[in-house]
Amino acid sequence: MSESRNSFIELVEELAHLDHPPATAPEPVTGELTATLLVGDFESRCGNCRKPTLVGVDRHTDISGWVEEPGGGCGARFTDIASTSSGVTTAHLRRLRPDLPLRDH
Ligand SMILES: [Zn+2]
Repeated sequence: MSESRNSFIELVEELAHLDHPPATAPEPVTGELTATLLVGDFESRCGNCRKPTLVGVDRHTDISGWVEEPGGGCGARFTDIASTSSGVTTAHLRRLRPDLPLRDH
């Protein structure tokens, strides 16, 4: 996979030298990144990048947990919530985040 990575870097460097980058510059045009807030027994995870997150946040900006990484989240906005453990009940999810709809409900 190093070949494609090298060619990507070359492309970026090539674009950086252009006075007027073409309008079709390779910039992914996607909608807002969204994710499901996955709640387990001991930690919560982001449904997009699967990394730990705080349960009370609107967006996955920080990675929390054993190895904290402020600003290391993927930035996805949590649009719904789901349990990853039978020990985390629907009622528990509702108490945690009454603002988020339950996934698959
Ligand atoms: Zn994430």
